Amino acid sequence: MNQITQENIQVGEIANGLPLSIPVYRVQGDGSGPKVYIQANMHGAEVQGNAVIYQLLEQLKHLPLKADVTLVPYANPIGCNQKSGEFTLGRFDPITGTNWNRMYVDHSHLVEEFIETHLDCSLEQIKASFRQRLLDHTNTQLAQPHDRINTGKRIALNLQRLAHEADIVLDLHTGPISAKHLYCPEYAKPSASYFNIPHVLLIPNDFDGAMDEASFCPWWKLQQAYAEKGRQIPVFTEAFTVELGSQEKIDLEEALNDANSLVSYLTYKQAFSGSPQQPEEMTRYACTLENYRTFYAPMGGMIEYTAKPGDKVEAGQTIAKILRMERYLSENPLNTISIDEDAITILHFASASVNQGTELFKFFTKYEIL
Ligand SMILES: [Zn+2]
Repeated sequence: MNQITQENIQVGEIANGLPLSIPVYRVQGDGSGPKVYIQANMHGAEVQGNAVIYQLLEQLKHLPLKADVTLVPYANPIGCNQKSGEFTLGRFDPITGTNWNRMYVDHSHLVEEFIETHLDCSLEQIKASFRQRLLDHTNTQLAQPHDRINTGKRIALNLQRLAHEADIVLDLHTGPISAKHLYCPEYAKPSASYFNIPHVLLIPNDFDGAMDEASFCPWWKLQQAYAEKGRQIPVFTEAFTVELGSQEKIDLEEALNDANSLVSYLTYKQAFSGSPQQPEEMTRYACTLENYRTFYAPMGGMIEYTAKPGDKVEAGQTIAKILRMERYLSENPLNTISIDEDAITILHFASASVNQGTELFKFFTKYEIL
């Protein structure tokens, strides 16, 4: 049985002086596998990842583990406690309005100086030395005087320090009301088929502030820089944002399915001796970020979402009905909303009352089979 250890790291203080802390669980393998980092609940209402981490820990105790796995539930101790009435908010820092998953720091600039001094090193040396650079740089940023780092950046840098130790980073999120989907960097496309996730969103290998990008971008840029110098090296790190389904929901049975999905991918990445999980057979659809369409509410009103997450819709098909009761006597109060192209419904807004221009749906358009 593999031993699980716990450490609580402090990532800030709140107004009454109490520490903000995050539980960090570690399971050691035999040292011959990759290093894996998995976190959940960076956005307050996206709680299902905590249940997936629970189911993963239950399995990792017994599996023949080669990898060292670090698991962080409740990655954002402010977010999941930010309630308003019966709902959890926690997508944005309530003070600054910044999305909690856009506060990570891009360390890609370290590539330029690194490559000048490590051009002819072995692959093992490159990987170890560059990883150390990322860790040292993150530690330096965290060691700044406290008056130089805001709340969100302090949380993000603490998480990034853990993530930079790993070859594989999985950031567990959910949509509002959502089908399962995977944010996959384009270079890691072959890995997407090992998750039991039918919808794969291929994102450019660029930085936009999220944990997955903060984890893979420096390594992608490193590979690019070596290629420019005429040397081919692998991208040593893979990182994904795993969208597990809908927010404000814990489903332990579904969490077990998702844990199996992650174990399947980790099996492919040699995290275990033997093959504890194989990917399920399913049709997987891929869509590029530029074809991931946001559909805004064309009018305000009270909405019934008729296209459900995962549904395929055809051009001209009704996707929602919007009720406008102030028009009941003057004109048709019931409006049908349709989409003008074939698509797969990935997610929709969680509330039934919407303003004109509210982000109503997200669709895969111009998708293909992976
Ligand atoms: Zn999220």
